[in-house]
Amino acid sequence: MKRAYNFYAGPAALPLEVLQEAQAELLDFGGTGMSVMELSHRSKDYDAVHEGAGQRLRQLLNIPADYEVLFLQGGASLQFAMVPLNLLGEGETANYILTGSWSEKALAEAVKVGQTKVGASTKEEKFRRIPSQGELEITGDEAYVHITSNNTIYGTQWQEFPDTKGVPLVADMSSDILSKPFDVSRFGLIYAGAQKNLGPSGVTVVIIRRDLLGRSREELPTMLNYNTHAKARSLYNTPPTFGIYLLGKVLSWVERKGGVAAIARQNELKARILYDAIDQSGGFYRGHAEKESRSLMNVTFNLPTEELEKEFLAEAAAAGFVGLGGHRSIGGCRASIYNAVPVEACEALRDFMLAFKAKH
Ligand SMILES: *Cc1c(COP(=O)(O)O)cnc(C)c1O
Repeated sequence: MKRAYNFYAGPAALPLEVLQEAQAELLDFGGTGMSVMELSHRSKDYDAVHEGAGQRLRQLLNIPADYEVLFLQGGASLQFAMVPLNLLGEGETANYILTGSWSEKALAEAVKVGQTKVGASTKEEKFRRIPSQGELEITGDEAYVHITSNNTIYGTQWQEFPDTKGVPLVADMSSDILSKPFDVSRFGLIYAGAQKNLGPSGVTVVIIRRDLLGRSREELPTMLNYNTHAKARSLYNTPPTFGIYLLGKVLSWVERKGGVAAIARQNELKARILYDAIDQSGGFYRGHAEKESRSLMNVTFNLPTEELEKEFLAEAAAAGFVGLGGHRSIGGCRASIYNAVPVEACEALRDFMLAFKAKH
């Protein structure tokens, strides 16, 4: 068996150890005589998996007791709608900071639900950077302020979270949750599709401060109301059991690695390897993001011409590097280097980049 150098943006690389554990348990989970997929979600055996995953996430992210952790479905994209449906009341305004396509999509859903405004946008600069605190228009009376912590497509990342004047901060952390330590108590709500840093697709994690649950209106459809899932410990209906099981295993793997701080050091090293290759290429490789806004998760870059980019991607694919094409909306190249991508994969890509540059 040969494992690929996987730089897909999502679904993305999972730790090999996690896959091997799942493989070993596939036919007989913990002596039950069946796969975890075949267990009732009301069984004791599954309940231990479900609770264990939630507890692990609480520990790893240091989630305070006044927050609920929910495991939902529908991806981050459903949260684009659920956030305003639950948190944006009549006569109130939600403030969206636009730093890329995902924040624009989040805003587009909120517009359908209620009143919104744009507190800042770097669209005119092709989303090359994150706005500074001084550029943010936050009045302090908004229902919430929404940001995208890491912009998967453009390769930018908030380095410091904004001061929102006491307004609840809501973050789409799909592509950088668990990549570095941060203070959960600064946020009102955090959501993340699992398929980048947490596990397989099909699970969405929502972390919500309990007082915000009081905002949801009774008239909301049951499944779209956060309270439904908070009250039922995310077991109101059948949860994505296999995804939650794998997520729990990814969290155990992070624990064994030394926790989020240790993972962050490794992520910094991986990003440095690739950004150094870009910065020391004499302009052959050009980073899309401004240096101060660079993402540790998605390294976006261009080559001098589109022809060279095509050639680069074709040769990289032939050499065993997968997923290096930029998002279909902006083209170019992108290496997604989430938690499970090993340092060696980044070193191999750097060596390939150096050799390709020397040849051209
Ligand atoms: C991948 C991604 C999404 C979309 O997630 P789905 O689970 O496909 O809905 C949303 N936001 C960000 C920041 C992403 O990286």
